[in-house]
Amino acid sequence: MENSVRDTVILGTGCAGLTAAIYAGRANLDPLVLEGHEPGGQLSITSLVENFPGFPDGIQGPELIENMRKQAARFGAEYMMGHLVKADLSQRPFKLDFGGGKTAQARTLIIASGASARWLGLPSEQALIGHGVSSCATCDGFFFRGKPITVIGGGDSAMEEALFLSRFATKVTLIHRREQFRASKIMLERARKHEKIEFLTNTVVDEVHDVNAKEVTGLKLRNVKTGKVWDFPTSAMFLGIGHEPNAKMFTGQLDMDSDGYLKTHDFVFTNVPGVYACGDVQDRRYRQAITAAGSGCAAAMEVEKFLEEHGR
Ligand code: NAP
Repeated sequence: MENSVRDTVILGTGCAGLTAAIYAGRANLDPLVLEGHEPGGQLSITSLVENFPGFPDGIQGPELIENMRKQAARFGAEYMMGHLVKADLSQRPFKLDFGGGKTAQARTLIIASGASARWLGLPSEQALIGHGVSSCATCDGFFFRGKPITVIGGGDSAMEEALFLSRFATKVTLIHRREQFRASKIMLERARKHEKIEFLTNTVVDEVHDVNAKEVTGLKLRNVKTGKVWDFPTSAMFLGIGHEPNAKMFTGQLDMDSDGYLKTHDFVFTNVPGVYACGDVQDRRYRQAITAAGSGCAAAMEVEKFLEEHGR
């Protein structure tokens, strides 16, 4: 139980949350940083990150996150494991309930709870994440240069991933569970016309091979119309089946779009003064580590301004 009032509480320890924690820490705000069910966010499940500026030879995602974590701790960030179960943003200070009797009060709140990639949920898929199974083409596509790659999904994300991966792969096979696509016409057409991209519709993945070899060697596929089952050789499986923003606990209090992403204006402002959102929980467009870090920085700077203006 926490009775004292915090200047700021940061939800999330991905790139956005940790960058916010570094800036808030350096502003002497002693931030309380909540580590949720995916500590470190999406970077922590990525391998080599080659597009974060400042690392000419790349850096491992978990290492980058650990560096940020240490950097924020050095400036006074305090970490706590837990989930935000309930928040009352109608009162000031805000009341935050983390369940199990853990609560906090905060003058400001930075929401950096991210968006979780959707997975198929197969045990073999989960076992091979980071070993040929990925939800981020921009992060991991390069490792499969000169190899056949598979993309799962029928929306814009899947089309975008397939088009991006066609630069590296010998062949991209896009597997979709239906015949109709959610993807926009233009993206679908672009993918359809691409000489390296092949479509397999009405098809689902039943298993990813080969967990024992710790690498993806193929997929067990099933045609949902005919029931035909077969093994399909591939070197990587990229999921493009959407993301779920982690913002459900704010339903009814913060403005969201139809998919549950927090709506922000002027970069990081939500509709409640003193509550800021940064990173993937409010960004469905870029979803990059560097853009998340940038918005985390902005959120912490706005917190500082808000506290100054409200006589901290
Ligand atoms: P989405 O539009 O929700 O599409 C998700 C796709 O994954 C659907 O085709 C869905 O199949 C499939 N899927 C979901 N769960 C599945 C499962 N368990 N197994 C197999 N397939 C599954 O998500 P999105 O593509 O990430 O796009 C989200 C939003 O971002 C959209 O508004 C999109 O336009 C936008 N976006 C835009 C761009 C761009 O313009 N460049 C790029 C990316 C995203 P069903 O159709 O059968 O449900």
